[in-house]
Amino acid sequence: MPRLYSTSVPADDVQPAWDLPVAFAPSVEIVAQNKSGVLVYRRDTGRYFQLGRSSRMFVPHLQEGVTPHYLTRKVSRVFQVEESAAASTVTRFLSEIREMGLLDVPAPAKGLRDKAVRGLAEIPMRRLVLVRDSSPPTASGKPATPRSRAGIVAAALICVLAIAAACVAAAAATRLLDVRALGVASIAIPPILLLHLMVHEASHWLACRYYGVTVPEAGIAFWFWLLPRPYVDRSHAYRLDRRTPLVVITASGIVVDALNAGIAGTLAFATDDPTLRALAAAVAYTLLMTLANDVNPLLPSDGLHAIEAATGHHSFRRRAIQYLLTLVLRTPSSHHHKTASRRLRLLYLGYGLLALAYLGVVALFVARLVASVGGST
Ligand SMILES: [Zn+2]
Repeated sequence: MPRLYSTSVPADDVQPAWDLPVAFAPSVEIVAQNKSGVLVYRRDTGRYFQLGRSSRMFVPHLQEGVTPHYLTRKVSRVFQVEESAAASTVTRFLSEIREMGLLDVPAPAKGLRDKAVRGLAEIPMRRLVLVRDSSPPTASGKPATPRSRAGIVAAALICVLAIAAACVAAAAATRLLDVRALGVASIAIPPILLLHLMVHEASHWLACRYYGVTVPEAGIAFWFWLLPRPYVDRSHAYRLDRRTPLVVITASGIVVDALNAGIAGTLAFATDDPTLRALAAAVAYTLLMTLANDVNPLLPSDGLHAIEAATGHHSFRRRAIQYLLTLVLRTPSSHHHKTASRRLRLLYLGYGLLALAYLGVVALFVARLVASVGGST
């Protein structure tokens, strides 16, 4: 799973000392600056942070060391605004990146509300690292080639095939799932699922290696300290300067989910053995649930990361949720949200609708399944 963080803190946070110079922490590396913002890497934690567009003017100063007072005067001069307004912008920005641990000033102690917001936005997990690659982070990428017709046709075919496979799996799961015929064969489901998850992660790993992205570690994460889930850390893929490779790396897992579910569904329809049919249908159902989880826009899933890769906004979910929360709860908005473009705010609203639609589809599928299983027994 990629690890990219971004945060916003309430405006009433403790401020850095006004007349003492602040600078980036020594472990901070500025990876890229472009029109979507500044990509920052913390070598000590291996975390990436995406700062908004407006942060670009602060970066050169923070590489040298600067007083907040100086930044305020500069913002006031460049944007022709009152010093008090400039001071509020600078304070918010410095508080946010200080919270991320990017400044050479320690992050302030977190309040209960911050902890609660953070707890909602991040899944608690423990990691068992199996493979480690300590070589320096790289993402050489492949040389950019003009978008070929063959490439577009291949991508479209893969999408159609994945959708068809998911439909076959859904048909098998809703029509052929027979709990009584399954019996003790159900003990085969967890190892099959684990095998599938390994193939899924292997697809991310292969895509990373294809694009020359260093994979620092791979292993098993325990979500909520219990659910084992193989993972491949593909954070360094954020260093890729083009969107297509990032979309391919994130979407490869979704395609594997759909194809494997389709294989299980096809097997369920093809076999005459009632136990095998029930097992294949149950596996198709399980893999469809995995697929639903992997496209879940509410969790840091492959689907969410593909959205982020395609839109070029790397901290999309957290910022969208925070934006929607500030709208609903009418709390003060962060520096990022104040400076976000109209298009980005519309994307955040679109994300909220997508999340609701996702919940609706999952609820419908579960209801359909319950009805069909209830009807067949
Ligand atoms: Zn994945």
